[in-house]
Amino acid sequence: MQLKNNNLLQQQAFINGEFVDAKNGNTFNITNPSTGGFLTRVADCGAEETEAAVLFASVAFQEWKELTGIERGRILRRWYELMMDNIDDLATILTLEQGKPWSEAKGEIKYGASFVEWFAEEAKRVYGDTIPGHQRDKRIIVLKQPIGVVAAITPWNFPNAMITRKVAPALAAGCTCVIKPAEATPLSALAIAQLAREAGFPPGVLNIIPTNKAAEVGKVLSTHPIVKKLSFTGSTPVGKLLMKQCADTVKKVSLELGGNAPFIVFADADLDAAVDGAIASKYRNAGQTCVCANRLFVQEDVYDLFLQKYKAKVAYLKVGDGMEEDVVIGPLINEKAVKKVEHLLEDAVSKGAKKLLGGGRHELGGTFYEPTILADVAVTMDIHQTEIFGPISPVYSFSDADDVINMANDTPFGLAAYFYGKNIDLIFKVAEALEYGMVGINTGMISTTVAPFGGIKESGFGREGSKYGMEEYLVKKYLCLQVETN
Ligand code: NAP
Repeated sequence: MQLKNNNLLQQQAFINGEFVDAKNGNTFNITNPSTGGFLTRVADCGAEETEAAVLFASVAFQEWKELTGIERGRILRRWYELMMDNIDDLATILTLEQGKPWSEAKGEIKYGASFVEWFAEEAKRVYGDTIPGHQRDKRIIVLKQPIGVVAAITPWNFPNAMITRKVAPALAAGCTCVIKPAEATPLSALAIAQLAREAGFPPGVLNIIPTNKAAEVGKVLSTHPIVKKLSFTGSTPVGKLLMKQCADTVKKVSLELGGNAPFIVFADADLDAAVDGAIASKYRNAGQTCVCANRLFVQEDVYDLFLQKYKAKVAYLKVGDGMEEDVVIGPLINEKAVKKVEHLLEDAVSKGAKKLLGGGRHELGGTFYEPTILADVAVTMDIHQTEIFGPISPVYSFSDADDVINMANDTPFGLAAYFYGKNIDLIFKVAEALEYGMVGINTGMISTTVAPFGGIKESGFGREGSKYGMEEYLVKKYLCLQVETN
């Protein structure tokens, strides 16, 4: 791995400010999904190391919460600057372990760092309230205090940003953190741990537990009485399991789970803009994001024209190793992901969908998959109810707004939705009727630090980023003071 700053390649767990091996010396392999090649070995931690990290985080919490928001904000700000100074190396590590194109990886580092910058500023604005008393001699004050030790469990599709989106508000609020990154992508997490050390976070404030024993480490994080909050991003089944495990100790929980995003194109839409928006939403990270367009609904009057324009552009998306220039679609994360996509495609075609483009493994081999468009998709197909997590666009036709709203809402998920159209009455009708936490209107790109990211229904609860993001890591306490009045 060619890096300018070799300190960023860390293979050990980060506990109490030190990089350490697993107690039993075990390690697991990290591979490059583009080549299948071996990258390095990383410490394989278990319950013992996780418990130790929780205890260190608990000790560190006592001092960290006493710092002023301004003091914590300064350290976060340094961390942000170090991330930006090392952006090329962080992007290289990310692309090598995750597969996304290097320019896209750089975009993720910027996005991830933006949460650190944002919450460095928010650290000094944890305002409480004063409430007019209910009796003449009562004064009521609401304080917001850090909840305590926070556990974060994060997925492989955004190895940097899914960590900073949780950890930056938690640290800004005065909490300390224990993070379990995904097995496939711990190197990005450990690289920012090194930068956290350089930024001056005290030992124990931030801890990272790499592991290939997710269930064992997750059990400790979701049941340990010292952990007061669990923030999880990943699949809905694992989120449900963790929520159950958190019940016995009544932890505060945030869940950022799977999606099944509708992308609706009305007849009066700017079709060229809709095509670009659909490509941006669908094919980013090879279709492996929770907010990827999962079902494209196009009004029947413009169905053929949209497909013609969409196919013409999707056909030119270059697939390949993310370290190569001009590549816009990398590999899928592993063979299991390819098998899932293959099943969804076979099921849809067997039930009448037409392959308009692609539809199979890419000639590059490995886990590369062709950018694919399926036309004439119907609600009876498995793909209608499944988060694809791959570069397939299933396209349906619809007749009117009521028809498409019903189809769009016909899913237990409720994360992101998109639609293109110009009629202002229709825009409000559809925006209000869609059962989703985030709605992009005439845009396919909605993620930003300044807005609250999160879902409803089985896509989870809790919001990340924005002025709401820090609330997840704070508890409210009110003081009721009796005073003497004459
Ligand atoms: P996943 O299998 O649920 O894994 C997510 C994390 O949970 C990983 O760190 C994983 O560890 C860990 N995990 C797995 N089993 C566990 C267990 N029994 N106990 C504790 N932790 C456990 O999901 P994924 O396939 O990595 O990620 C893709 C999913 O994340 C998609 O559904 C996507 O929509 C969702 N996602 C949602 C958002 C959002 O903001 N809503 C953002 C990004 C992704 P290992 O890696 O070691 O298995």
